[in-house]
Amino acid sequence: MAKTQMRHLLDLSLEEKRAFLDSFDMLMSDCDGVVWNFTGPIPGVDRALQLLKENGKKLAFISNNGMRTMAEYTQKFHKLGIEPQQHDIVHPALTTVKYLKSVNMRDAVYCIATEVFKDYLRSAGFTVLDGPTDQIADERIPNGVRVFSEYFSEADGPKVGAVVVDIDVNISLAHMMKAKCYLQQNRDCLLIAGATDYIIPLDSSMDVIGPGYFIEILERASGRKAVVLGKPGQALAEFILEQFHVTQPERTLFIGDMLPQDMGFGTRCGFQKVLMLSGGTTKEMLLAHSKPHELPDFYADSFADFIQLYKDVAN
Ligand SMILES: [Mg+2]
Repeated sequence: MAKTQMRHLLDLSLEEKRAFLDSFDMLMSDCDGVVWNFTGPIPGVDRALQLLKENGKKLAFISNNGMRTMAEYTQKFHKLGIEPQQHDIVHPALTTVKYLKSVNMRDAVYCIATEVFKDYLRSAGFTVLDGPTDQIADERIPNGVRVFSEYFSEADGPKVGAVVVDIDVNISLAHMMKAKCYLQQNRDCLLIAGATDYIIPLDSSMDVIGPGYFIEILERASGRKAVVLGKPGQALAEFILEQFHVTQPERTLFIGDMLPQDMGFGTRCGFQKVLMLSGGTTKEMLLAHSKPHELPDFYADSFADFIQLYKDVAN
């Protein structure tokens, strides 16, 4: 939708508010930055989600955060008074497991990600390789070829069928080299990306460099294109449309706080989109954004605006 038409949900006329609330049966929402942030739940989100449920909306949560165990997800939602089924929570570690199963992966998986992410793969029965954790001493570098080939190629190690990259705060050049070697040694080795965010907002004072840059380096170094199983990936879109039996995508509303990940993903799926300004995107960033497929249909301050919307249409 063109920027000039982009409006705040609460600026709609009463009739438009009614039409909007009637225009979707399912609401799929991002989590970090819209349901909660690093300090706790976004104020009003519990009431808003309850109202949406009471009004017959089906809820699902599509996060790019595969660094949280399912028990932690369930507990966080429980505190908000909503009890989504595990089936209704989707994140890159889960979709990676699903994808590896779908391609019948029998080989080992080299993983650049957090331990929590790797545990999802291990508990699904996959052999996970990681590291290296030891460092190459400066004095060994002049013996380049021999040292590097010892360090990066494991002649007697298991065959690696996939390289998986998600968020890893301990990522190093050694990990990138290891991944590149696996991709080069086996032309059938898959390159899989979880979250592809370039910037991960923590709070107003700090952003973290996300895995997007590293995935791009690996794509360029290996000449391979990653299968993206986080937002806004095409492979994730296919999973989501199938998993939730979406037949009329325009009757699904996607909510998120990031323009490329959330709004880009919503566009890819053919969903309606609302950007919440409660997370990683300010109104200034929204207005300055130039990629039309990453823009929302409407925006709102936070989930709390749904409380007002329902109040307005009730009068
Ligand atoms: Mg978010």
